[in-house]
Amino acid sequence: MEHPSSQPADAEQLPTAELAPGLYIVATPIGNLGDMTARAVRVLGSASLIACEDTRVTGRLLHHFGISTRMQPYHDHNAAAVRPGLIARALIEPVALVSDAGTPLISDPGFKLVADARDAGVTVLAVPGACAAIAALSIAGLPTDRFLFAGFLPAKDKARRDAIAQLAAVPATLLFYESGPRLAATLAALLAVLGDRPAGVGRELTKRYEEMVTGTLSVLAERWAEVPPRGEIVVLVGPPLPAAAATQDDLDAALQSALATMKVKDAARHVADALGLAKSEVYARALVIRQGSE
Ligand code: SAM
Repeated sequence: MEHPSSQPADAEQLPTAELAPGLYIVATPIGNLGDMTARAVRVLGSASLIACEDTRVTGRLLHHFGISTRMQPYHDHNAAAVRPGLIARALIEPVALVSDAGTPLISDPGFKLVADARDAGVTVLAVPGACAAIAALSIAGLPTDRFLFAGFLPAKDKARRDAIAQLAAVPATLLFYESGPRLAATLAALLAVLGDRPAGVGRELTKRYEEMVTGTLSVLAERWAEVPPRGEIVVLVGPPLPAAAATQDDLDAALQSALATMKVKDAARHVADALGLAKSEVYARALVIRQGSE
């Protein structure tokens, strides 16, 4: 049985002139035009309209690929006014959304357009391709089994530190977008709030001067402390490091302090949670300490 919200997977595999109506979310290169997919060229060439952030930027891309489809600016300042018309059109014609570079909606406009289009019953299809965050993650050598994309951090120091603090306990690699002039302040704040975790800075990925520099946050912060780098940047930070195993002295000190105000059972539970130890082991030790003090 067909899933109620499923859409034809090959909606645009029809002959070029018959691209099915719908909203096509089309990824474009993040620097290297060789990363434009054949499907992106076909969909942009066959769409009736391309919604884009900046017609000059997208115009250059279309020109390179010989595409003459009409463009419609869609950005933060006109989105509310333009959105209903795009949705009405996507119900009857193929409409594409691109951003200046990479995957639309990823720190780029489009979220409300997709949400409202789906509500209106528009078929929404992904034409996937480049995304700076995923490109950086794939080459940084940091854990990839779990990651959290956090976009751009706030520019002001206090807000930036607060935002980082909210992510401190997340057991995943953290991904941020950043600009050259703000890199030093961001690395310093990450180091101050998260400690000296393994990290990476991906710069100008897929372009001529691309690099991925890895090291601990303190090494990276020092490298860019004085001279800001040029270009576009992804910052990656590895998950929290496992806490150093508690020693017998740590356990005894924590228990003595807890036993001063708690019953044995409560003290054992509290200390076991705090030090990540087995409750039975901590309870046994708490009994010994309590008896020794009587
Ligand atoms: N939607 C895009 C994507 O899929 O990656 C991101 C758009 S966001 C407005 C632009 C930011 O992405 C840049 O400031 C930079 O942090 C990152 N970025 C874009 N291209 C990049 C590249 N070639 N190398 C490193 N970072 C890049």
